[in-house]
Amino acid sequence: MKKYTAPIFMLAVFETIAIVLWVTKDNIFYFFNFSYIGCSVALGMFLFVRNNSYARRIVQLLVGLYMLIYLGLICRENMQIEGFWYYLFTGVFEAATIHYAVAKIFGPLIFGRGWCGYACWTAMVLDFLPYKVPEQPRRKIGWIRYITFVASLIFVGALFLAHVGNIERIMFWAFIVGNILYYAVGIILAFAFKDNRAFCKYICPVTVFLKPMSYFATLRVTCNKEKCISCGKCRRVCPMDVDVTDNSRKRENGTECILCMECVKNCPRGAL
Ligand code: SF4
Ligand code: SF4
Ligand code: SF4
Repeated sequence: MKKYTAPIFMLAVFETIAIVLWVTKDNIFYFFNFSYIGCSVALGMFLFVRNNSYARRIVQLLVGLYMLIYLGLICRENMQIEGFWYYLFTGVFEAATIHYAVAKIFGPLIFGRGWCGYACWTAMVLDFLPYKVPEQPRRKIGWIRYITFVASLIFVGALFLAHVGNIERIMFWAFIVGNILYYAVGIILAFAFKDNRAFCKYICPVTVFLKPMSYFATLRVTCNKEKCISCGKCRRVCPMDVDVTDNSRKRENGTECILCMECVKNCPRGAL
């Protein structure tokens, strides 16, 4: 039973969030929403411990498609960063603000960048591309994320300052156009840099929240130094260039870990 502790823990975390939000917001949607996500994540973790090689991809599709198609297109909620700014400026703790608080701001204190590995609908598509392991060294252009972050803030801020009418409708179209742009840029960069996750490493504005919060993550991959033979395989299979053999929080690219578990699966000594 010990190996099922992580999926049970994750399910408990999401069910707690589901019940707290249901009761405090008096809206049963939150119960179904977070229960669905929690069950999907727990199912993936359960499949992982059962050695199912598609475990992570199954969760990514279950959660990513639900958020993109149901919440985004059918319920017309902008769950991208522009939607977060929009709800924040209107002072409403709903939809995107709750999503950001749980998945991208406070949640990462527990599960790090699990969002990036198991739920993001952008990465859900990028992970189908051929460069699962980067074929080129990492570039020092991560500063671009700050530009996209500020641009999203200015875009929504300008709409409010200019008193533009029907911002709700603009947000819906911003969600559609934004996603098309993210997919286009993500796919072009993946092929240009021979790295499926190039968009995540250099462009994505959400990492401005995710990286500092995941620095303190409770759930992280650690290395048993007594078993490790320094073969370097974990580093070679890592899509995010993390030096997972270093247990310190300051390890190289430590805040980039998306908990995909490729290093764990490939370590010949079971040291991770
Ligand atoms: S870095 Fe951005 S695009 Fe990449 S998985 Fe995370 S949230 Fe999605
Ligand atoms: S793959 Fe395993 S044994 Fe090899 S360096 Fe990484 S942790 Fe050590
Ligand atoms: S391979 Fe390991 S260190 Fe790299 S992102 Fe996946 S879980 Fe994190």
